[in-house]
Amino acid sequence: MNTIICRHCDLVSERPVLTKGYVAKCARCQHTLYKAKAANAKKILALALTALLLAPPAFSFSLVSVHLLGVTEQTNLLQGALLLIDFAPIVAFVVIFCAVVAPVLLAACMCFSSACIVLNKRPRLLSPVLKMTSLLIHWSMLEVYIVSFMVALFKLNSYADLYYDNGLFFLVALLILNMSMICEYSNAYYWDFFTNE
Ligand SMILES: [Zn+2]
Repeated sequence: MNTIICRHCDLVSERPVLTKGYVAKCARCQHTLYKAKAANAKKILALALTALLLAPPAFSFSLVSVHLLGVTEQTNLLQGALLLIDFAPIVAFVVIFCAVVAPVLLAACMCFSSACIVLNKRPRLLSPVLKMTSLLIHWSMLEVYIVSFMVALFKLNSYADLYYDNGLFFLVALLILNMSMICEYSNAYYWDFFTNE
């Protein structure tokens, strides 16, 4: 029997076969168990590959130039996070993990699993990759970094001249790709592919 466990109350129930557009809910707590959504693996593969290509310039190119008292300073995401290491190491670790490591790993995992579906291959590595994808979706928080960065820029705007650099455009493009990938991804669909030989 094909079963499914509710992530909210641990109720084990028989997995219903859903038609597209329907949602399976837990009989006890009414939380969503899964949606009948056929993920487009080719689209996710294209998004993930583009995200991986955009990641190096997004993290290494300068995001903004700050011109104050005749001096111009440029900074990128990694430099900003590394500057925090001395006086706020935990914050620096969280920024590096949630804004750099998790989004890149997520794109790599989705790239691998989508390529497996497109090529119709089921390697053993696919199972840990799918588990890691479910975890990384919650830790990839590029949007939180960009929102806090924009708030800091608005505050700084009254004291210094700011010039937006190419890195910021790459970072926003990476965020859009990351969010599109997550919206398109279906955990249940990918696991179905892995378990249905
Ligand atoms: Zn439940």
